[in-house]
Amino acid sequence: MDFKDYITVVENYPKEGIRFKDITTLMQNGKVYKKAINDMTAFASNQNIDVVVGPEARGFVVGCPIAYSLGKGFVPVRKKGKLPRETVDVEYGLEYGKDSLSIHKDAILPGQNVLITDDLLATGGTVNATVKLVEDLGGKVAGLAFMIELKYLNGRKNLDQYNIYSLVEFD
Ligand code: 5GP
Repeated sequence: MDFKDYITVVENYPKEGIRFKDITTLMQNGKVYKKAINDMTAFASNQNIDVVVGPEARGFVVGCPIAYSLGKGFVPVRKKGKLPRETVDVEYGLEYGKDSLSIHKDAILPGQNVLITDDLLATGGTVNATVKLVEDLGGKVAGLAFMIELKYLNGRKNLDQYNIYSLVEFD
């Protein structure tokens, strides 16, 4: 099965010149979604994971079923202001301006092995911010798992020390 056959490339979305990788067409096919999650879980099952962390919203789409398969917990990372209890926050740069992400302060125990998941690695801004939140809480990043990696944006460049898995690469 070639996962690429189920990912729709949408030209000029969300703006001119961007070729958006739409994973909803993969997710809506139960067999393919299951195989994608199983392959990502197989990577994770070698990493001695204690907890899975994913940024909203598509990080939940991959992270929750992986956590469920592993029998581990899932911790959401959300845009600032969305989590109800005490958080730690990180600001990160976007192409224009800044954004911030938050995690509940008590969500990860020092020394826990964490798998970070998201649907797609582009520039790496989102995952680097998520790594910072996990490490600020004392967690150890045991692996990073993505459905898609956009090789041409070189998101790996600041992630040398981490174990990265991606199901599909686009050149
Ligand atoms: P980065 O922070 O690595 O530049 O961008 C990755 C984040 O933006 C991910 O959270 C991902 O959901 C979203 N993203 C950026 N480009 C795409 C895309 O082409 N398709 C999808 N599905 N998500 C994208």
